[in-house]
Amino acid sequence: MKDTALTKKLISWYQVHKRDLPWRGTSDPYKIWVSEIILQQTRIEQGRDYFLRFVKFFPDVFSLANASRDEVMKQWQGLGYYSRANNMHETAKTLVKEYRGKFPENAVELIKLKGIGPYTAAAVASIAFDKPAAVVDGNVIRVLSRLFGIEKAYDRPEGKQAIHKKANKLIDQNAPGTYNQAIMDFGAMICVPKNPLCHKCPIKEDCFAFRKEKVDLLPVASKPAQKKNRYLNYLVLILKTGKDDYTFMKLRTENDIWKNLHDFPLLETKSPVSFKTLLRKGLTADILGKTSFRYIESHMPLKHQLTHRTLYASFHVVHIHQTNQYLNRHFKKVKISAIDQLALPRLIDRFVENFFSPNNS
Ligand code: SF4
Repeated sequence: MKDTALTKKLISWYQVHKRDLPWRGTSDPYKIWVSEIILQQTRIEQGRDYFLRFVKFFPDVFSLANASRDEVMKQWQGLGYYSRANNMHETAKTLVKEYRGKFPENAVELIKLKGIGPYTAAAVASIAFDKPAAVVDGNVIRVLSRLFGIEKAYDRPEGKQAIHKKANKLIDQNAPGTYNQAIMDFGAMICVPKNPLCHKCPIKEDCFAFRKEKVDLLPVASKPAQKKNRYLNYLVLILKTGKDDYTFMKLRTENDIWKNLHDFPLLETKSPVSFKTLLRKGLTADILGKTSFRYIESHMPLKHQLTHRTLYASFHVVHIHQTNQYLNRHFKKVKISAIDQLALPRLIDRFVENFFSPNNS
């Protein structure tokens, strides 16, 4: 079958079965951009609520640009991959400053903005501005690999090239946005990773994988990178002043996980260790200094999965009787009752919710 006929079949399927999503039916590039960034690493069910909340709080590029970094991070809290929020904030400022608040209309210009990669650029250019830029994400890779029998690893240059070539041939020049959304929905609803619904598939007669019984073998990936473990030992310092209780937190500024979010004083180790070991090895020396303290308890490590890392975070609760120069210089003294006003990574938030909840005091 010719590629144009395949395109038509996908679009006809989409017209009947498309998902009802809050960012559908709009050609507002701001909303399309926000939805695409949220959905990059977030499931659609979770992304939907975040999207609605985010665009209610920041209804346009100007409100996002004028917001403080803390406000943006607070709205993003819990979604993970926080560099997305940082980049969006930066891009909103650039759009206001250099583009009078308007999005460029083509993918080549869009891609120059921070945090906008080829996929998002193609989605915004095609859906908002009707430009024929084909999206290629995990869904599209899977559909095209199976449909056309692309057996080269999709994450290697040759495989990538083959997929992009097919994607650019299939795109409907007159309705590129509709085509892009059609193939994305088709990949998410019919040609799913495990047990695709081939019996319901409108293009199964044309599908290489279906005809050759290779559905489970495609797409092909090169060997996955080994996941690494990180062991985070947090000191949850509590200073009781009689009137209020305080703890100490730090804004993470390094180019690492959770940039621009807050965490407790951190000691990272190569393997799991107890509080006693941290003390014995002198790792707490800077943070605790000559401060007199009382060790209270350690909490079972919380496990947190990131794409290429597994985090194990232990929380050691220590009462201190006074602050010290090191703490004053490197950390914020935070009233425990106001801790929820800070933007926190989900992992820290989970601990805070349990440990500092009123039922726990
Ligand atoms: S026949 Fe199956 S594998 Fe082929 S495109 Fe349809 S759903 Fe995907």
